[in-house]
Amino acid sequence: NYRVVLAENRKMYNELQDLKGNIRVFCRIRPFLRGQTGRKTTIDYIGEDGEMAVMNPAKPGKDGRRVFRFNKVYGPDSTQAEVFADTQQLIRCILDGYNVCIFAYGQTGSGKTHTMMGPNGASEEEWGVNYRALSDLFKISQDRKATFIYESIVLDSFVYLDFNTLGIMSTSQPSGLAVPDATMQPVTSTADVIDLMNTGLNNRAVSATAMNERSSRSHRFYCLFSYPIYLNILDISKYTVSNRIIYSVVSINVRGKDVKTGATMVGNLHLVDLAGSERVDRSEVTGDRLKEAQHINKSLSALGDVIFALAQKSSHVPYRNSKLTQLLQSSLGGHAKTLMFVQLNPDANAYSETMSTLKFAERVSGIELGAAKSNKEGRDVKELMEQVASLKDTIAKKD
Ligand code: ADP
Ligand code: MG
Repeated sequence: NYRVVLAENRKMYNELQDLKGNIRVFCRIRPFLRGQTGRKTTIDYIGEDGEMAVMNPAKPGKDGRRVFRFNKVYGPDSTQAEVFADTQQLIRCILDGYNVCIFAYGQTGSGKTHTMMGPNGASEEEWGVNYRALSDLFKISQDRKATFIYESIVLDSFVYLDFNTLGIMSTSQPSGLAVPDATMQPVTSTADVIDLMNTGLNNRAVSATAMNERSSRSHRFYCLFSYPIYLNILDISKYTVSNRIIYSVVSINVRGKDVKTGATMVGNLHLVDLAGSERVDRSEVTGDRLKEAQHINKSLSALGDVIFALAQKSSHVPYRNSKLTQLLQSSLGGHAKTLMFVQLNPDANAYSETMSTLKFAERVSGIELGAAKSNKEGRDVKELMEQVASLKDTIAKKD
C-alpha cells in the first residue's frame, strides 16, 4: 500500500532528522476566531505527511498555488495535547543531557503565544508547550528517582521589552547566561512555576516570604526568576512607550547524577515566544515604534543568519550580532536539537505575511545543524543512520 509506505517513509525521515539533530519545523495554522466566520482563507491544503499548500487570493488557480513541506503540519482543529505529544520526546531529551531549543515564529496574532504558553489563565487542557513541558519534567524526574537523581531543575523566565538594553552575562551555567539581580525561588510543582510566571508577566514583585511559605522544605527544584524589564534596561524611557512584551524566553536547566555510575549530566531547554515577524511599513510608524520594529527585524534576521552559518559550516557563526542569538547560543549549535513552530494566520488578507513566514521556514527547514550529541555521551548515531538508510532503500525498491 503506497500510502502506508509513504507514511513509514516520513516517519523514518523524521527519525533520521532526530538522530542528525537537524532543525525540525512544525507548521501550525490557527483557526479563525470568534466573529470571523465567512472569511476567506489562504490555506488550500493540509496533508497528514507534513505537506501543505497556500493559495494567493489574487491569483486563485494553479499559478497562485504554492506547496510547502515540513516535518509536521497542524490544522486549525489541532489541540494543545496533540502538539505536545509530538514535542514531548524532544523535550525529554534534556533529561538525557541534550540542549534543546523550541521557538515560535510568525506574524503577530498567528498563535505563537497560544502554542508556547496557552491562553491567558489557561486551564490544564489549554496549557501550551511550556507548562506541559515543566509538568512532564517534574513527573519524569520523580519516576526515575531510583536510577537517576535530578539535583536541580532551574528555570529562568525572561520577558523582554528590548534585547539591546538587556544585560546578559556569561556564567558557568549550562545555559551560559545569567541576568544580574535575578533571584532564586524554590518551586516544587508546575503550579508554583505558573504562579511565578504570572507574577512576572504582571510585573509584580514576588514577595520572598510568601514564596518561602509555600515552598515547604523541598529545595530540589529551583526557579531562577528575573525582572529584566525593571532591572536591566539602561534607558527605559526609550522603550516603554507601548510597554509591549517583545520576546519571552523560558529556559530550563537540568542537572542530575546517574546513581550507578555517578556520572553527571546537564541539559538545557529554551522555549522562545519570538516577536512578531511582520514587516512594518516605514511610512506608517515613526519614533519608538519604528525603532522597535527595526530592532525586531534585526534580531530575527540575526537568528536566521546564525542558522544559515551553522548550515554552511561556516567558521564564523555570528551569535554575537544580537542578544537573542547570544541567549540561544547553547541550544542553537551542532550539539543541540532545535524545533521551530511556524505559526500561520489562515486569513486570505494575511497572504503576503504568510508567504514570507513560510519562505523563512522553508529556508530553515532544509538545513542540517550537524549531529546532535548528548552532553553525557555520544550516541551511536552513525550506525542508526545506516540502519534507517537501508530501510529507506528497501522501501524505495518495493515502490
Ligand atoms: P501571537 O502570540 O502570535 O501574537 P496569539 O497566540 O496571541 O498570537 O493568538 C492570537 C489569537 O488567536 C488569540 O486570541 C489566541 O487565543 C487565538 N489562537 C491562536 N491559536 C489558536 C488555536 N490553535 N486555537 C484557538 N485559538 C487560537
Ligand atoms: Mg504573542
